[in-house]
Amino acid sequence: MEKVQNDSLLLFPCPGCNAQLYFNPEHQKLECKYCGTQVAIDQSNNQIREKSLRQQLSVTGDPDAAIEQMVYKCGRCGSESVFISETPTFTCSFCNFEAVNPVAYKTRLIQPSGIIPFGIDKQQSITIFKNWLGRGWWAPGDLKEFARQDALHGIYLPFWTYDAQTFSEWTGEGGRHYYVTVEDRDANGNRTTRQEQRTEWIYRSGTYNTSFDDILIGGANELSQKEYESIFPFKLEELVNFDARYLSGFQADVYDISVSDGYAKAEKYMEQEIYDACVNECRIDTYRNVQVSTSYDNQTYKHILLPLWVCSYLYKNKQYHFLVNGQTGKIYGSKPVSAAKVVLTVIAVLLVIVAIYFFSQQQ
Ligand SMILES: [Zn+2]
Ligand SMILES: [Zn+2]
Repeated sequence: MEKVQNDSLLLFPCPGCNAQLYFNPEHQKLECKYCGTQVAIDQSNNQIREKSLRQQLSVTGDPDAAIEQMVYKCGRCGSESVFISETPTFTCSFCNFEAVNPVAYKTRLIQPSGIIPFGIDKQQSITIFKNWLGRGWWAPGDLKEFARQDALHGIYLPFWTYDAQTFSEWTGEGGRHYYVTVEDRDANGNRTTRQEQRTEWIYRSGTYNTSFDDILIGGANELSQKEYESIFPFKLEELVNFDARYLSGFQADVYDISVSDGYAKAEKYMEQEIYDACVNECRIDTYRNVQVSTSYDNQTYKHILLPLWVCSYLYKNKQYHFLVNGQTGKIYGSKPVSAAKVVLTVIAVLLVIVAIYFFSQQQ
């Protein structure tokens, strides 16, 4: 097992008092908790470029560093802890000292080029979480005890963005409704007429060309794409060059969904959007048998890190997630439903229905 010297982890010592500096979302600077010294990070974005997907997919080979177990001797309390080298940030389990592990991103072929720094700090995310917990009548009363605030942690998760140009040919049938007068007889045998709808089908075809910009796909299996999308959008125009100092004081993760697997998800998304657009062109009053054939070109990608506040909690052996977009504060959460409250509500509704029925019979 490789023993990591303290200097192989990235430490950001305070120029004033030598304590560790952490990134402060409120001031968007590194800050010392002890003497208040602030250090600015250059927030330019000239390193963030779209890269050719085709070129990347032809690259084979191993990443710079293999994944291995490491022993870290804490710079503050001196105790030794074991951790895995693909962990981008490290917290000493004895004194909570946090350091950034620069080897982590080298265990993957593609390194992040951009990052959106946290804009929502821990205190704000706790307030958002508390408000959310108090809301909603269905939640069990003891939920607050289960969803402990210290379970809320700030983490930079890996994402892929994809661009592409698409060229599609489609065929289908557009349906035009028209009405015919049909003779009928009523209950007494008298002649009547009524209008009946018919559809005329017209063969149609066409081309549809469009381009997609920054389709955002989650790169970590921790959450599902649906859960990621629940806290979209991120303002990607605020991406800045990746700098490990932004990670100081937060957790981070490396990707486990590859650039090509991520692209497969992006292509499914594009396929659906294109199909919907072609259906729109084919439709008159209605449509059927729409077939689309698409070629994708000039695909590019970026690998970026985005900030999330995440809370996973167990309630009666079931896992629930609470998420906050670390840039915008948008929330998503799933909450257990109290069975007792549901039963009480159903009984109350039934009582009201019985009462209404009773009074209507009286009159
Ligand atoms: Zn200091
Ligand atoms: Zn320690």
